[in-house]
Formats: sequence, C-alpha cells, structure tokens
Amino acid sequence: MSRLDAEIVILGAGIAGLTLARVLHDAGHQVLVVAERLGEASTVPVALLNPVRGKRGRVAPEAEEALQALWDFYPRFTEVHRGILRPVPEEDRADWQEKLYRRDIPHGWTEEGLHLENAGWLETINLLPRLAQGLRLEYRKIASLTGKSLYTEDGAEISAECLIYAGGASGAHLVGLGGRFTPGSVLITRERFEGAKSYGVYVAGNSLGGSYLPHLPTYSPHQTQDSEVEWLLSGAKKLLGYRPEVVSSWAGVRYRLDQNYLREIPAGWALTGFGSAAFFYAPLYALRLLERLG
Ligand SMILES: Cc1cc2nc3c(=O)[nH]c(=O)nc-3n(C[C@H](O)[C@H](O)[C@H](O)COP(=O)(O)OP(=O)(O)OC[C@H]3O[C@@H](n4cnc5c(N)ncnc54)[C@H](O)[C@@H]3O)c2cc1C
Repeated sequence: MSRLDAEIVILGAGIAGLTLARVLHDAGHQVLVVAERLGEASTVPVALLNPVRGKRGRVAPEAEEALQALWDFYPRFTEVHRGILRPVPEEDRADWQEKLYRRDIPHGWTEEGLHLENAGWLETINLLPRLAQGLRLEYRKIASLTGKSLYTEDGAEISAECLIYAGGASGAHLVGLGGRFTPGSVLITRERFEGAKSYGVYVAGNSLGGSYLPHLPTYSPHQTQDSEVEWLLSGAKKLLGYRPEVVSSWAGVRYRLDQNYLREIPAGWALTGFGSAAFFYAPLYALRLLERLG
C-alpha cells in the first residue's frame, strides 16, 4: 500500500479547502490538499458576497469581520466587483433599517432600494486555479476516513498530524456531521449584469440564481429541473421587469450546518456547511482555524 504524509492534510479543494490551504501555506505550514477535483459546489459561476440575507434582510452573524477578511483576501487572486443593490419593497424598509441599526455595514438607501457598498460578487472560474497555484495537491478519490488517515479508492493511505475535512456536500458522508443538502441551479444569461441585484432571485455577471428547491437529508447530485428554470425566470421578471435570454445552466448542491462551520472532529477539524454563504465566510474561518492551529 502506498503512503503519503503531511503535517496538515485538507480533504477538499473547493472554496473552503483552498482558502484554508492558502492561508496555512502562507503562514508557513506544510499542507497537502487531497481532492477528487478542483471545486464542486464552488464551481458556481458567480458567488455573491452578501452580508444582508434573504427577503427579510437578516444581517449575517459576524458580517463585519467576514467582510474585512474577504476584502483582504480575494482581490489578491481575482477581480471582486463591489456593491449589491437590494430592491426592498417600500413597506419592508423600516424593518430592514432597524436590522442594520448599529451594525458597521456601509450602506445607503435610494428610491431603488438598499445599496450595500462593500458587499460584492466574483466569478469563480479563475479563482480556484489561482488559489491552488503553488500548493501541494493530490487528485485522489477518498473512499474512507479513519482516525487521522484517509484511504483512497485505489488503496493508498494518506495520514496527517492534523486532518481537516473541507469536502463540502459530496464528501459529507465521510465525516457523518448531519446537516441539510439543498440542490439548486444558476442560469447563464446572454446579457451581462455589471451591477449585482438581489431580491427573491439575483443577477450578477452572466448569472441568474436563487434558492427554490427544498432541503434534503442526504446528498445526491443535482440536475437543473424545468420547474427551477421557470421559477428563476419569473423571479427575474419581478426583479428586472423582463425575462433574460438563457444560454445554459449550472447545477449544484449547498450543504448547511447551521452556522457551526468550524468544529472539532476526532481527526482534527471540519470546515464546512456554509450553505449559500461559503464565499462570504471562507476567508474569516480560514483565519480562525489558523489561530487555533497556532
Ligand atoms: C445554486 C447555488 C448558488 C450558490 N450561490 C452562492 C453564492 O452566491 N455565494 C456563496 O458564497 N455561495 C453560494 N453557493 C454555495 C457555495 O457554492 C457552496 O457552499 C460552496 O462552494 C461549498 O464549498 P466547499 O469548499 O465547502 O465544497 P465544494 O466546492 O463542494 O468542494 C468539495 C471538495 O471536496 C472534494 N471531495 C468531496 N468528496 C470527496 C472524496 N470522496 N474524495 C476526494 N475528494 C472529495 C471535491 O472534489 C471538492 O474538491 C451556491 C450554491 C448553489 C448550489
């Protein structure tokens, strides 16, 4: 049986695993990333970096710290577009204003709605390869995880002083953390939206996205359904006043662990379960784990 060792082994090369690997590598740790491929849900074409969530305007926990960490991190690797417009209906604005009261989240109100000035969005296509550049990365499929060892499908053992699970939705069965799996789709539009807009559904770059399907208790791969396409296009009609032309679609599965994104497991740590806010929180939680590792 072949063997590989490293001080820190990270299982997963999505936004969680690669951001962490980059932060640890830059701090001088010896890191090995093991993954079947570069990103799974993290290949979502556009990721919003949005501190004010949903149609109720819930301010994300630790939003100020997460914004600081993401603006310090992503622009080193890719272009990050600044600003998101939330076209909040008049009758809900007072409630949203109250939620933002005494929060340090730069914003302004206009007739159109709420402008979140240091929210933003990015395209993932170049981000993942750039994060991976210069890292030690092994492309292997992991069949099981026992103690501090990973066993590959072809029988190799990979062991670590510290093992970090960052395998997202598709690898979640390996660590048995429970959680919810939410399939979803993004439609790729012919039109490019330079300014991100989000209420019900969102548009940014060449993407139209939103969350329509219910949560599931286990992971299974997803393919875009006709009902999702119709839901997204009717949402776009409300948001933009028209249905944009669609050229293709992307499908993936979100994995949610209700905010307990960093937790100790017998092998080391699990950094996962960010739901729709993985790109928002990944830099902050990578720094948190760096601190814990000392
Ligand atoms: C429709 C939709 C829209 C979204 N929009 C946004 C958004 O606007 N903003 C945002 O922040 N987030 C968004 N998300 C969520 C985001 O895409 C995910 O939460 C995030 O990408 C998860 O990243 P991850 O690194 O945890 O996992 P993934 O990107 O899924 O990566 C998992 C990694 O683990 C590896 N792996 C898993 N199992 C194994 C195994 N057995 N062996 C070897 N390797 C394995 C995979 O190969 C991969 O490298 C959206 C998700 C969906 C579905």
